[in-house]
Amino acid sequence: MDFSHQENEDRSQAIRECEILDTPAEPEFDDVTQVAAAVCGTSRAAIGLAESDRIWFKSKLGIPFSEVPRSASACNLVLAGQETLVITDLAQEDHRPELSFLQQRGIRFYAGAPVRCGGHIVGTLCVLDTDPRFLTPAIVAALDALARQVGALLDTRRANRKLLESERMLASALSAAELAREHAGLSARRLETLFGRLPVASFTCDSELTIFEWNRAAERLWNRGAYEAIMRPVPDVLGWPTENGFLRDGLMRVLKGENIENYEWKTTMADGTHRWLISSAFPLQSSRGDVVGAVCTCADITSTKENEEQLQEYSTALELQKAELNEANIRLQALATTDGLTGLRNHRFFQEFLAAAVEQARRYKHPLSLIVLDVDQFKRYNDTFGHPAGDAVLVSVGEVLTKSARGSDLVARYGGEEFVVVLPETGVEGAKRAAERLREAIESHSGFLCPLTASFGVSTLELNEDDREHLIQCADRALYSSKSRGRNRVSHWKDLDVVTMDLEPHNYSV
Ligand code: GH3
Ligand code: MG
Ligand code: MG
Repeated sequence: MDFSHQENEDRSQAIRECEILDTPAEPEFDDVTQVAAAVCGTSRAAIGLAESDRIWFKSKLGIPFSEVPRSASACNLVLAGQETLVITDLAQEDHRPELSFLQQRGIRFYAGAPVRCGGHIVGTLCVLDTDPRFLTPAIVAALDALARQVGALLDTRRANRKLLESERMLASALSAAELAREHAGLSARRLETLFGRLPVASFTCDSELTIFEWNRAAERLWNRGAYEAIMRPVPDVLGWPTENGFLRDGLMRVLKGENIENYEWKTTMADGTHRWLISSAFPLQSSRGDVVGAVCTCADITSTKENEEQLQEYSTALELQKAELNEANIRLQALATTDGLTGLRNHRFFQEFLAAAVEQARRYKHPLSLIVLDVDQFKRYNDTFGHPAGDAVLVSVGEVLTKSARGSDLVARYGGEEFVVVLPETGVEGAKRAAERLREAIESHSGFLCPLTASFGVSTLELNEDDREHLIQCADRALYSSKSRGRNRVSHWKDLDVVTMDLEPHNYSV
């Protein structure tokens, strides 16, 4: 007998849902078999349930087996025919595997009514006997009715099982929900404690800026208890400081979804004091991701800021002092290297400049010349016109020399009425020409109270062994030569008769 896989599956499912297979006998089923046997006048009756390849008897009367193979059971014919089957005399029936089991055991009569559960035929209520029997239609109808009662019992049992299962699931869902609620409660308490005791002033607000949480540090910072802040608008509690946009701008940006970190702002507290705060604020989002408020923290950094400002003031003052010191140093430096009367570079500066120029000339193999000049008969001028007039002459000579020299030359006062001009990159002829130009410029100057001239000595660095001292001595000797040859003239060391010259300091003015 072939049944579709689906048919067998549905049937097995319905029976499994009853949770009845292999359970002990129960009176409500046994009552039915007893009544069926009595109604049909048979010695045997059973309620068989088809599961997989067996027929298992939930209730049996006069039957020694607890189950039989489905293929060898007449019940299988009822399952296949889906209606009540009455076989008056099995001995008259053809040989079929479903019947031979009964036939071999001397059973002559079989009647089976289908038992339905969950809309599927799941078994039979059957009556059997060793004698052939005839059932009236009324008795067959009674057997059908009893089979429906068995189905009703199974349906009730199935419904009860489902109900129990639902209850079990509900109970476990309830306990899970309870656990979750407990966890949520604990987590909320943890957060509440953490938030409440954070040492940084913190508050939360909704998107309308109504404060919802206000921790103890916030109470201390703004000197407002939670009862004064909660459910009130942020601007009312914190004020809208005009000098900084944290509340006006920062918090608004947070409500648009932006994170604000370490925002420094200055505010005026209720007692009128000014405070520097550093704030961070983050948007609070609903499970759908909408911004529904903000969490904000504020730390008082007034003392740090004041220290910073103080430090800034100190550092500005220090910078100022440094600049002044620098200027003073520059002035001092200038003073140390400047001649007080003429404003020209002084003797010291000249010596340093010349040393550097000699070094430079050596390294790059450039010529270098030095002019030394001395105002002629200056003592007489002083004696005639007075010392201040003599001073004025020295100033004028300095100006004349500076005007006539090249930018790269150094004009300095050597001492008394003597001046020097250092001429870098200038050879013998060039230096002689320059000295002549200077001599003429002094001679032709009209600012003196009487005509004045100067004598010039020139030297040029040519030999490797020449040094600064040597250069000065040579120029000095050339000047001596100019003086001794009648003054107001230029002499170059190269043009002197060097063999007869000694290089001892001269004393031509005596
Ligand atoms: P010679 O032509 O030989 O150089 O003669 P001289 O008179 O110029 O030389 P002398 O050495 O005899 O005199 C130099 C004078 O210059 C003497 C000194 O009083 C004067 N003198 C030196 N320094 C200054 C100064 O700063 N101001 C004034 N007014 N005179 C000064
Ligand atoms: Mg002199
Ligand atoms: Mg002189």
